[in-house]
Amino acid sequence: MKKKIGVIFSLLLLWGSVSAQENHVVLISVDGLRPEFYMNPEWAMVNVRQGMKTGSYAEGVRGSFPTVTYPSHTTMVSGVLPAKHGIYYNTPVEPLGISGKWFWYYKDIKVPTIWTAAKDAGLTTAGVSWPVTVGAPIDYNLPEFVILPKGKGEKKDEIKAMYQESNPKELFNEVQDYAIGKFGEFGATIDYATNDQNKARMAAYILKRYKPSFLAVHIALTDHFEHEQGRDGDKVRSAVQGADVAIKTIMDAAEAAGINKNTTFIITGDHGFVNIHTQFRPNVMLAKLGLYDDANKENWKAYFQQSGGSAFLHLRDPKDKSTLEKIKKGLVELPTGIQNMFHVLDKEAVKKAQGDPTAAMALAANQGFSFGASAKGDMLAAVSGGTHGYLPTDFKEIQTGFVAFGKGIKAGAVLSLMGQEDIAPLIAKLLNLKLETDGILYPGILAPVKK
Ligand SMILES: [Zn+2]
Repeated sequence: MKKKIGVIFSLLLLWGSVSAQENHVVLISVDGLRPEFYMNPEWAMVNVRQGMKTGSYAEGVRGSFPTVTYPSHTTMVSGVLPAKHGIYYNTPVEPLGISGKWFWYYKDIKVPTIWTAAKDAGLTTAGVSWPVTVGAPIDYNLPEFVILPKGKGEKKDEIKAMYQESNPKELFNEVQDYAIGKFGEFGATIDYATNDQNKARMAAYILKRYKPSFLAVHIALTDHFEHEQGRDGDKVRSAVQGADVAIKTIMDAAEAAGINKNTTFIITGDHGFVNIHTQFRPNVMLAKLGLYDDANKENWKAYFQQSGGSAFLHLRDPKDKSTLEKIKKGLVELPTGIQNMFHVLDKEAVKKAQGDPTAAMALAANQGFSFGASAKGDMLAAVSGGTHGYLPTDFKEIQTGFVAFGKGIKAGAVLSLMGQEDIAPLIAKLLNLKLETDGILYPGILAPVKK
């Protein structure tokens, strides 16, 4: 009898130690997060700053090229840059006309990710509004997706999209029932500030109920208002504070779920922001050179894919040297004032920046300037507010941030700069996953292992 009790007791001990090792990582991406939002108390990220005191942070994160949302989020969960993971832009290259489609589908990612590594390890995962996860191997997933209008007068539909792509199917109904209330004329909404708050509540519910090992959440209101107002403005400030509240909602859920002690929080973003006043439209230049005809698009020979602060040249025939030479000549014949708005990256430089390997060259704008897609009208146009997409190594303003705290993170380590590809190896380490990346795991931010 004594022996039996002893066996049961040691089994309980074993069970206790195994469950204590069950780590959780919550990755929260605040779209358009800049380091000063948490480093400068004026921005009022009170809760993130509390986490910062108990954990480690970076003064800047060098992003992916182009510094736009979908390539960047894919870098965070794969640990490799766009040239390898295959999400080169937010949207496909469409010289025949922009359809409004984005790279929503997970199948477009060419490499293993934290999602697949977690699945291989038998861990449970969850995602809320995480880019490029439609059809992803995620156990509880409400991906970012939009149903585009089919006819005139129709509007894009994000609610119907969530019903359609919710995995499992009933999950979207479940979060409405338990976390945010039913969508509808008088019900829940994802308009305005409630967008971030409702996504946080959905994530909090999933964390509490299903206790996934890995939860990734993307909230985008800060980015929305930085586009509208630029780097500073009342709406930007309100959105940053709202993002902080959203993060706290998820932190509280970890506590309510009783997994707080085993949970690591990683707060990061996809890119910084730059104020803009003038847009250059390189496709107007191509039209002038006779290489792009807006009225007969099917006759295109060359096309610039704009990504806000950068533009990537695509040739219909990638071997068409004479077209490329015409464009190079066209660029150096532009008025000096226009030439001073950006710098040119040849194919080799794009390769070095690990951007789209299929692009023939790229333009990277200086601060104040952005690129437009239009092939009609003037080469220059007035713009306002802010944008991103710039070469990540050009200036500090385009860097995003990183704060990590909780299980496994040392207090007080400050990295002056890290790479976006360094986030996935940290997650892999914390969850004991096998994932090959190009990132660095900084041992200096890990808490010493207790023996
Ligand atoms: Zn973004």
